[in-house]
Amino acid sequence: MEKIALSPAAAAILGRLEAAGFPAYAVGGCVRDSLLGRPPHDWDVTTAARPEQVLALFGDCHPVPTGIAHGTVTLFWQGEAVEVTTFRLDGPYRDHRHPDTVAFSDRVEEDLARRDFTVNALAYSPRRGLCDPFGGRADLQSRLIRCVGGPARRFEEDALRLLRAVRFAAQLGFAIHPATAAAMDAAAGLLSGVSGERVLAEWRRFLPCPGAGALLARFGPLFWAAAPALCPAGGEEDGWLAAAEAVEAAPADFPLRLALLCLAGPEEGAVGRAEALLARLRPDRRTAGEVTALVAAAHAPIPRETPALCRLLADRGREGALRQVALWRATGRLSEETAEQLTGGLLSLLERGVCLTVRELALSGGDLLALGAVPGPQVGRLQRALLEGVWAGRAANTRASLERLARALLKEEALLP
Ligand code: ATP
Ligand code: MG
Repeated sequence: MEKIALSPAAAAILGRLEAAGFPAYAVGGCVRDSLLGRPPHDWDVTTAARPEQVLALFGDCHPVPTGIAHGTVTLFWQGEAVEVTTFRLDGPYRDHRHPDTVAFSDRVEEDLARRDFTVNALAYSPRRGLCDPFGGRADLQSRLIRCVGGPARRFEEDALRLLRAVRFAAQLGFAIHPATAAAMDAAAGLLSGVSGERVLAEWRRFLPCPGAGALLARFGPLFWAAAPALCPAGGEEDGWLAAAEAVEAAPADFPLRLALLCLAGPEEGAVGRAEALLARLRPDRRTAGEVTALVAAAHAPIPRETPALCRLLADRGREGALRQVALWRATGRLSEETAEQLTGGLLSLLERGVCLTVRELALSGGDLLALGAVPGPQVGRLQRALLEGVWAGRAANTRASLERLARALLKEEALLP
């Protein structure tokens, strides 16, 4: 019999449930990952015990009734959290996302039947072995994502499964079974009803995976249904295919790859597409800001000289500047060699501690007033000009050198009409 090494918490919880007479199994992703030889990131348990029985049996494990209506109780065993869910049958689905009702069951096979893919419909107990009524083990060996049951109905029930299918295919490096893939093509439109928050959560995990580009190319309409901003106008797919290729070639970075998708299609619409995409996905401000800046600068002149490189670092920070170079490389505006030179140039400026903000200047705003600057906007203008002067090598970032430049700048300003 196949043996899986359970986590200490999962082993202890299964042992106690079984000792109390309740069949119990580790289930889903942890079993799948264990059989693949990947370390599971968390352990889920499924059992015949009802939620109130789980609460009563594990009073010493800080039980939290996280989803009591759906049968889920979270337990903490020596600091490790485990979700314990009662065997469950899902009733008919409302809104293509949530079952109207759930009913508890006494049979693990019924619980596995509601799960999305065969490789996720695996349960294991040290006492009962592997429970695999849908051929999940064989699909793990053939490296296939395949729906449990009729795929059309399963995607109809819950459209999020469309995004989970591509995400698991990318994460595991699996192919999608032809019948499942065909049902995905047919059901793609249902994704318009899935919340942007869920799309974002899936894409955060999907986009950085190797192989994401091939799935983007194969399932274009599915991604366009999830985020209509990405849909190429007039079914013009060449731009999308080029973007999918760029994604594949780019570093495994979420904002960068999202920006590349916005660049599919006409250049002048890219910023608008990014805005619409971000309005749908609503990522955190940092991510949104990064995507916007990357797209806005995609077609801008590429910095070559030191002042322009400093300006890029000052405007975008280290991460943002390096990402921008990676984007220019991925869209083919830079050769590998030039991209490396540019990256090297940025890193060496940072290493040399180049001054990137007015706060780092050896001359303060107060000093400028003492030199005769007019309080108000002129001070900020002069500080920025000093910064540019340092970048251009017109001054060193020392008091004396900046004072000299400031005097010259003040004289120039005085000469202006
Ligand atoms: P990972 O945690 O690595 O993303 P996982 O397989 O554990 O993978 P979860 O989202 O944590 O995925 O879900 C746990 C299990 O619950 C899945 O393995 C699957 O059996 C089931 N499941 C989750 N979401 C769905 C869904 N939308 N439809 C059907 N079954 C689902
Ligand atoms: Mg999980």
